[in-house]
Amino acid sequence: MRILCPQCQAAYEVPERLIAGGRVLRCVKCRHEWREEAEAPPPPPPPKPAPEPAPPRPAPPPIPGQHRAHQPIDPPRPSRRPGLALAAAWAASALALAGLVAAILAYQAPITAAWPPAARLYVLLGKA
Ligand SMILES: [Zn+2]
Repeated sequence: MRILCPQCQAAYEVPERLIAGGRVLRCVKCRHEWREEAEAPPPPPPPKPAPEPAPPRPAPPPIPGQHRAHQPIDPPRPSRRPGLALAAAWAASALALAGLVAAILAYQAPITAAWPPAARLYVLLGKA
């Protein structure tokens, strides 16, 4: 190994085994004496502390209805008789319209009182 005199920087090539464990050397140039320690391999880095295991997080409170989101949703089955549904829709609409007309006829006086132009409607309906 290469050793430098700490005083005069004279370089010496010394077999490492000669100074294993430390040895007092003397520089032949300046007669400086010093203790040379064999180069020890760099100490291993201190073991890193194991990362603290993350504390188990409490499970989030279940959201109502969320668990059902993973279940397959039945696709809407096509109606076997679309004509019937359509007819039912029309019937419901007709019923609603009939009910509205019936209400209009039944409450002619209050409606006319609240909305005078409605009187013309009743004229058209022959109810005036
Ligand atoms: Zn020296």
